[in-house]
Amino acid sequence: MADGANSVFVAVRCRPPNQKERAHGGDGDSLVIMPDRVLLKASDWGDKDIEHHWEQKEFGYDHVFDDSFTQERVYDAIGEPLLKNAMNAYNGCVFAYGQTGSGKTHSMVGDASNEAGRGIQPRACMRLFELLAEKQKENTSFQATVLATYMEIYNEKIFDLLSVGESSKDELNVRLHPTLGPIVANLKECPIQNYSDAAELFDFGAKRRAVGATQMNETSSRSHAIFTVQIRTSVKVSGVTTESQAKVHFVDLAGSERQKKTQASGTRLKEGIGINQSLSTLSRVISDLSTGRGLPPFRESKLTLLLKDALMGNSRTALLACISTARYNLAETISTLEFAARCKLVKTQARRNEESRADVIQKLTAEKEAIENQLQLE
Ligand code: ADP
Ligand code: MG
Repeated sequence: MADGANSVFVAVRCRPPNQKERAHGGDGDSLVIMPDRVLLKASDWGDKDIEHHWEQKEFGYDHVFDDSFTQERVYDAIGEPLLKNAMNAYNGCVFAYGQTGSGKTHSMVGDASNEAGRGIQPRACMRLFELLAEKQKENTSFQATVLATYMEIYNEKIFDLLSVGESSKDELNVRLHPTLGPIVANLKECPIQNYSDAAELFDFGAKRRAVGATQMNETSSRSHAIFTVQIRTSVKVSGVTTESQAKVHFVDLAGSERQKKTQASGTRLKEGIGINQSLSTLSRVISDLSTGRGLPPFRESKLTLLLKDALMGNSRTALLACISTARYNLAETISTLEFAARCKLVKTQARRNEESRADVIQKLTAEKEAIENQLQLE
């Protein structure tokens, strides 16, 4: 891959009907899934169901996975290219977008305990250590450090899913650095040396996400989870040491369903607004980027602030839009398909994060530490 503008890679995944939907039977032919397109036909919709001004609409994507696609094939299409790029010092990001129950967590995390069930995140970690071992075989001077972080944005507050004890309930502060990007103070960075280290963290983080949600009388569908691996490598070739680093974010977004459906009130309403703020800002940022209008409002939500690079900067980015064919989800499905279509128009600017000058790395490390200390005092 070369430096320069890259379109966001957009894939759609349609989950199989669940038991209830199967029992309910026929969903009509409103949604036709093809390998690189989704066709929407308005012909069999009830009059007042959904507002539309067209009879038929076609959306094109890089990939459309119907429910016959395995976790492995979805990973091969989305995860593997990003991971290979990361091994070449390019940042990457995968977002899972869609309404609650559409298959976001299944696709991103899945069932890490059984091989076939593993989603993009565990598969990428497994492959990462295989690829690192290959590099080490090629050149014995090759060294790698892998650090993982896992955070959650709930109600516009950032929480650490990997920290333990009382401090784990603390909201984390974030600051944007022009070169280093967002710096989250006190976020626990866990070194991982093999796949089982990574699997422990998924488990730990997923349980924390679920426990937090239960305590707040909610499901995890209202929070955004961001698992990040940072890969730092150094290699000596002809006496010159080159250091490089890349970050890959795996983002399991909150359910994209519209607020009016849930009749929220009180605390729930506040939570809803928080989530809306991150998701609606994401939507506005994508709209602005896809039409090239002005500076997108990425500072207006924690999600877009944290993932600014993935949306408009140095990153190779993929979106997995999750849908179902169920008739009662059609309005949300259309909204997901439209969002995914806008994402296809967005371009990021990936460049290789490689540095052979130790003084530059030292300077940036010192700056990062200074900002972290400052944030801790705030
Ligand atoms: P979300 O995270 O979007 O709320 P989930 O990933 O939790 O949705 O999926 C909802 C349910 O559907 C889960 O029981 C999940 O195992 C199942 N599911 C989702 N996608 C698939 C798929 N492609 N194949 C089989 N089961 C799926
Ligand atoms: Mg989920």
